[in-house]
Order: sequence, then C-alpha cells, then structure tokens
Amino acid sequence: MRTCRLCHNPAHLVFEEVRPFFACNVCGLIFSDCFISAEAIEKHYKDQHNNVFNWKKEAGFFIEWLKNLEWSLPLSSLSFLDYGSGGGFLTEELRRMGYAVDCYEPMLHGEFNPNKYSKAYDVIIMNEVVEHLEDINKTLDIICSLLADNGVVIIKTLLTDRIINDPENFKESFTRWWYKDDPTHISFFNFMTIEYLCHDRGRNLMVRAISSTDNCVVLQKMEGS
Ligand SMILES: [Zn+2]
Repeated sequence: MRTCRLCHNPAHLVFEEVRPFFACNVCGLIFSDCFISAEAIEKHYKDQHNNVFNWKKEAGFFIEWLKNLEWSLPLSSLSFLDYGSGGGFLTEELRRMGYAVDCYEPMLHGEFNPNKYSKAYDVIIMNEVVEHLEDINKTLDIICSLLADNGVVIIKTLLTDRIINDPENFKESFTRWWYKDDPTHISFFNFMTIEYLCHDRGRNLMVRAISSTDNCVVLQKMEGS
C-alpha cells in the first residue's frame, strides 16, 4: 500500500516486475519510483536529447492541436513556453516557424525561477514531461500560475486508458507496455486523472481536447481562476 502522490488516497500494488507499480482508485494515477542514480538519469536524458528525431513533425503536431481551438488573435502572435524543453529542439523548431517561445529545462536551468518568466503565457507545452514528475501538484501549480486567462497547456504523454479499460487483460497489456520500462517514467495518467487534476487544489482548468490515440491533452485555464 502506498499513498497516491496526486490525491493522497491509498493506492494499491497492481504490478511488480523490476519496479513496483501502484494504482489509485480515486484519481486513477498509476505510479512507481525511479531507482536509478542522479548521474544515470542525467545520462539517460542526454542520450534522448538528440536531433535525429523529426522535430519539425513534432512542432506541427502541437500547432495542429492549437489550430482546433478558437483564438481571438492569430496563432503567430501568441506567447509560448516549452516547459521541460530537453535539448531545446522543439523550441528551436517552433521559433523557426515564427512563434515566440520561451523554454525551461530543469537539467539546464535548475529549480524553476518564476521571476525569469512571463505570468501570462497563451500556450504552455509539456512534451513528454508529466510522466517524469514526482511532485505533480507542485509543477501543475507553477503551470497554472504562468498561464494567461484562457491560455492552454498541451500535455503529451502516453495515457493508460486503453490498458485500464480492459481490466481482465491488465497484467498482460501492462507487461507489454513499453512506456513503463523507461526507468525515469514514474507517473501515468488517464482521462480520470486528468479530470481530477483540473479541479483539485482550486484549479479551474477545463479539458478542451483529450486523445488516448494521439496521447495528447489540451487544458484551458478558465477566466478568473
Ligand atoms: Zn490518487
């Protein structure tokens, strides 16, 4: 038994192979711990921060999701923050496309310093970030404080819905699910978890789009929250 790191209710062991994984029935989070050293984590990230990946396509993916929302200004005049920007390739690609993008990467910039950033981003991108978070609430509170009214946060992470919606085959599907095998991935979300975190701790976020096929979630900060 463990305490859920998102909602603090009891979570139970659902899988154990290499690492134990716990699931919370209240918010739906599945979580584990990272057992590799800080040096190994840094090496792991650096190996992933490469330019071989098609960042142009990745940038286009986020822009397409934004185009589906209604904006009072053209997309090109919105302000962006790439939160957890890794090697900076997504930031670079978006800037090349003409967008104004700030970036924050804890491995490079250390602890987040709010004084260095705007308090009113229209768009915050969290590309493959949330699965690494231990203190999910702390990071989400930072994100909410940085969003403009009606601003959106786009979260890309692999969602667990397809696995948990078929409980009879959970063990088999989870065994095959490669995303859990990355030792730095410790928090896994589904539709229920996303709904929960939108309204927890006085947050006033609204789910604008969610897709477990595209592994993408778009949340909007409602006015006055
Ligand atoms: Zn929970």
